[in-house]
Amino acid sequence: MKPFWETKSLTEMSRAEWESLCDGCGRCCLYILHNEETGDVFETDVGCTLFDAKKRRCRDYENRLTRVPDCVQLTPENAKTLSWMPNTCAYRRLANGKTLPDWHPLITGDPTSVERAGAAVSPDLISEDDIDDELLESRITKTR
Ligand code: SF4
Ligand code: SF4
Repeated sequence: MKPFWETKSLTEMSRAEWESLCDGCGRCCLYILHNEETGDVFETDVGCTLFDAKKRRCRDYENRLTRVPDCVQLTPENAKTLSWMPNTCAYRRLANGKTLPDWHPLITGDPTSVERAGAAVSPDLISEDDIDDELLESRITKTR
């Protein structure tokens, strides 16, 4: 039998199925920079004020949208259009007709496969609270 992510659209999934798509990489909680002219998106090693880099979790997931106005709630509708999301993200991939990466925990059955694949953020991120805005460019690590 095929797994649910191959048979259901994002809108057809249960809440539990939807939540299980998140591999916990933490990359959507990194500070990113946009080049307005080229459309390029740059990833930094700076984490959101609420991000716990050691646990790769939001410290206040329930209230994140009110505490961090820039935090975006992913939905089946916007998953396709959020081009700044990492291209490894299961929501973005499925919304764009792709499959899950072979290291995804739903496939491996092992949550640590995300780290082993090099897809997770570093536990040594700095917090946006600890850096001046004008220094953010110096923290760019890669293009997304
Ligand atoms: S980028 Fe996608 S898979 Fe990674 S933590 Fe964010 S929502 Fe989950
Ligand atoms: S508020 Fe939480 S979920 Fe939103 S970007 Fe920050 S750490 Fe991530």
